[in-house]
Amino acid sequence: MGEKTVRGRFAPSPSGRMHLGNAWSALLAWLAARSAGGEMVLRLEDLDPDRCKPHLCDGVEEDLRWLGLDWDLGGSAGGETFYQSHRGELYRAALEVLRGRDLLYPCFCTRGQLHAPNAPHRSDGEVIYAGTCRALTAEEREARARLRRPALRIRVPEEEVGFVDRLQGPYRENLARDCGDFILRRSDGVYAYQLAVVVDDALMGVNQVVRGSDLLGSTPRQIWLQGLLGFEPPEYAHVPLLCAPDGRRLSKREADLTLAALRGAGTTPEALVGRLAHAAGLIDRPEPIRARELIPLFSFDRLPRADITIF
Ligand code: GLU
Repeated sequence: MGEKTVRGRFAPSPSGRMHLGNAWSALLAWLAARSAGGEMVLRLEDLDPDRCKPHLCDGVEEDLRWLGLDWDLGGSAGGETFYQSHRGELYRAALEVLRGRDLLYPCFCTRGQLHAPNAPHRSDGEVIYAGTCRALTAEEREARARLRRPALRIRVPEEEVGFVDRLQGPYRENLARDCGDFILRRSDGVYAYQLAVVVDDALMGVNQVVRGSDLLGSTPRQIWLQGLLGFEPPEYAHVPLLCAPDGRRLSKREADLTLAALRGAGTTPEALVGRLAHAAGLIDRPEPIRARELIPLFSFDRLPRADITIF
């Protein structure tokens, strides 16, 4: 039997215009798939209605195309446009599977309770849930539900979940100790990223996930959910993050580093791709180059492992 075709994805959250950090992970995800003769899917992770605005979705396609990246499924490439905000039925069906295994419970904790000063935190800053609502009786749940709409959490076991990342090497977490019961649906009914990403990657046939190393710590949770839902885990490669010269991560708040702003200031896509490719160790000098000229030069082995400061 032949090797399975690689299928990667762009999964931006349209909560702002694409910035340099998004361009970096998009370029590397695209090169990883294309250099293996693979396909790319575009999915807009617009679950959070407070942060994601419809007009920003159009900007994503424009920015990706400007960089010289293309894709085979989703958006204007054909088929349907994959907006997570339209896929609630699929996430609900997955929740029902997990509910059937008696793994879900309502959580009535307020933000203030969750972020109490003595709450334990993960190394990435997220709070590890203390399990406050896990053992509520049916009567207590009923009484609380009259006052407040609950979030839905999943009960995690004392279990080590590990995997070998293509760039970061072996990584494991004890779900109960390092992560805690996590939210699958917020109290306002919005499905959580951890659930949506697992359902979507599986249903879209994604078998290669290349994304920023800030999501390394989400991966054990996602692999565990994949197991419960009967999905095959994709291959993961967590790329280093781009940092500003002061060491802070480039974020959407750095408005001058959006692709739209760089383009407006006269930067060409070739110049930008050249600088990113140089930072990725794919070319010797930061000279202008087209994204597709990098396809034969790409190898995971050439990429740096540690975060990078450029610009
Ligand atoms: N939508 C996420 C982001 O833009 C990426 C999620 C993922 O790659 O799994 O940060």
